[in-house]
Amino acid sequence: MANHNHFFPITVYTVIIMNNTYYNQFFEIGQQAINFNLYKIGLPADDCVYTLKKVMEELDFSGLTARYSNKGRKGYNPIMMFAVLSYANMRGVRAVDRIVELCERDIAFIWLTKGEKPKRDAFYDFINNKLSGEILDDLHYQFIRRLQREGLITMESLFIDGTKIEANANRYTFVWRGSVNYNLAGLLNTIDRLYVRYNTIIKSNNYNCKYQLAEEKMFIIEGMDKVREIIEKNRQRKKSKKKKISNNTIIEIDNISPLELLKLQTNLTKIAIGEGIDFVVGKGQKKSDLQKLHEEIEACGKRLLRYKEHFKVMGTSRNSYSKTDLEATFMRMKDDHMRNGQLKPAYNVQIAVENYFIIHTHISNDRTDYNTLIPVLEKHKKALGCSLKEVTADSGYSSEHNLLYLKEEGIESYIKLQTHEKMKTRAYKNDIGKHYNMEKIDDAPVPYYLCSNGRRLVHERTEVRKQGGLKRTFQVYACSDCSGCALKAECLYQYDEEKDADKNKVMKVNEVWEELKNKSHNNIKSEKGILNRQIRSIQTEGHFGDIKENDKFRRFNYRFSEKVYKEFMLYVFGRNLNKYHRFKYGKIKEFEGKTAEIAA
Ligand code: SF4
Repeated sequence: MANHNHFFPITVYTVIIMNNTYYNQFFEIGQQAINFNLYKIGLPADDCVYTLKKVMEELDFSGLTARYSNKGRKGYNPIMMFAVLSYANMRGVRAVDRIVELCERDIAFIWLTKGEKPKRDAFYDFINNKLSGEILDDLHYQFIRRLQREGLITMESLFIDGTKIEANANRYTFVWRGSVNYNLAGLLNTIDRLYVRYNTIIKSNNYNCKYQLAEEKMFIIEGMDKVREIIEKNRQRKKSKKKKISNNTIIEIDNISPLELLKLQTNLTKIAIGEGIDFVVGKGQKKSDLQKLHEEIEACGKRLLRYKEHFKVMGTSRNSYSKTDLEATFMRMKDDHMRNGQLKPAYNVQIAVENYFIIHTHISNDRTDYNTLIPVLEKHKKALGCSLKEVTADSGYSSEHNLLYLKEEGIESYIKLQTHEKMKTRAYKNDIGKHYNMEKIDDAPVPYYLCSNGRRLVHERTEVRKQGGLKRTFQVYACSDCSGCALKAECLYQYDEEKDADKNKVMKVNEVWEELKNKSHNNIKSEKGILNRQIRSIQTEGHFGDIKENDKFRRFNYRFSEKVYKEFMLYVFGRNLNKYHRFKYGKIKEFEGKTAEIAA
C-alpha cells in the first residue's frame, strides 16, 4: 500500500539536513577553516565576536533554517546572516548600509562571513522575509535559559520599565480622534441638510409618486450627542479663554450609514434617467439640481467612509495615529527640549530586566504603562514557566487590574503607588475626610468607620462598577447625621456652606484595591523593597539611558509594529550578548545594592 503520509518525514529530514549543513558550514565542523584564521590575528583575544560565536554554537537554529528551501540557488547561510546582524547590534550598528560596509572592511565581520559580502537586499530579505518575531523570541529565550543554567539569572524576579521610542513616521501626519469627531459632527449637519434638500426635490416635483419613492430619514450615529455637547462647551470655553476639553468619545460608523447615502444617489440617478436629465462633465456645463445634489451626497459619502477608516485604524484603545505608520500613536516624549508639549509618533517599549539582562520586551502603541504589565508577565509564563516570584516597577504600573493579577498569580508586588510621595505629606495624613485617617470597626454586627467627631459611618450598601473588563466593588459607608458638626468644611468634599448645610458624609471604599495597595506599599517600604527600587532604577533606567544616549537608538528604522519588534529584538539580543561578554570577562558584577556610604 502506498504511503500517503510520506511528505512529512521527508520534509523534517530535509530540514534537519539543511540545518546541519548550515550549522557545520558556519561553525567549521568537518572542514578546514582556510585562510580565515588569519583574520583572528588582527582581532583582540577578548573581542565579543568570540563570545557571540560560542553562544551561537549552542543555539538551535532549526526554526530559522526551516524557512529555507533546498531547491534553487543557495543564498547566504542564515546562521551567518543572524550572526552578522547580532554582532552589528552588539556594536550598536543597526543601519543595514553600514553593516554592508562593515562586511567589506571590518575584520571581525569578515571573519564571521568568511569573506562573503552580502549586500543590502540580502539583509532586507533576511530581516523581512526569513526572520520572524517568533524565531527571534525562540533564539532569545534559548539564550536566556543558558544564562539561567550558568547562574547569571534566576528568572524569579523582574524589574520592569518602559520608554517611548520615536516611530519611523513623518511628524506631521497625525490623525486625532477629537478632530475626526469634530469634523464628523459638521459632516452630519451637512448630510442632514442634504436629506432635507432631497425630500424637497422629490416632493415638489412629484417624483415620489412618479417613481414610488418614500421620504428618506437621516440616519443616526450613536454617541454624536455627547460629541456635539462637548463641541458646544468648548465654544463657550473659548470665549472665556478656558482650556478646551478633549472630545474623544468613541464613535463607530456602521456599514449602514454610507449605504443609506448610496441609496439616495441611486434614487437620484433613477429620476435623472426617467426625466431625461443628463449628468454633465467638464467646465462651462450647467449642472442640474439633481446632479448637484447627487455630487454633494457622493462627496459626503466619501468623507464618511474616510472617517470610518480613521476610527477603524485607531480602534478603541488609542486616540491618534500616524498616516505613515498606522500602528504608531502620537505620544508626549521626554526629549521635549522646546517644552511646547510637542507630540511625536512613537511606540511604547517595555523591558523586563534581571541582573542587567533584558529578559522580555514588549512593544505597544499604548501611551500609558498600565496595560503593558500583564502582557509582559504572560510572556514570561508562556516562555519560561511559572518561575516568577516578584515584580518591581514604578508607579506607572500601579492599577487595581495589575495588582490583582499579581496576587492571583502568587507574585509579590513591589510596585510603587501613585500616591507614594503624597502619602508622606502632612496634608495627606491630616485629611479627616478620608477613610484611611478614620478608625475602622469590623467586629460590629454592621462594620463602620469612626470619624474625627466620634460619629459612625455605617456600611450601607455595595456598588459594583465595570471598568475596562474589570469588576470594581465599592462599599458605601454613610453617617446618618452630620448636623452641627464643626468639622464639616474639612470633612466633606468641596463643602459649600449654603448648599451642604443638611448634607451627611458618604464615602465609597474599594476594599480590594485598598488591600492590594497596602500590601504593595508595605513591600516597597521594606528593606528588600528599597533594594529592589535601587536595582530597578539602576538597571532598567540605566538600559534606557544607554540605549538612547550611547547607542543613539531614539528612532526606529522600520515601520509597523511587527518590524519594529524585530528591530528591537535583534538589538536586545546583541545587548544581552554584550552583557554576557562583560560578565565573563569580569567587567561587570551582580548588583548588590548601594552601601550606606556610597548612597550618602
Ligand atoms: S462631617 Fe460628619 S463624618 Fe465628617 S467629621 Fe463631621 S460628623 Fe463626622
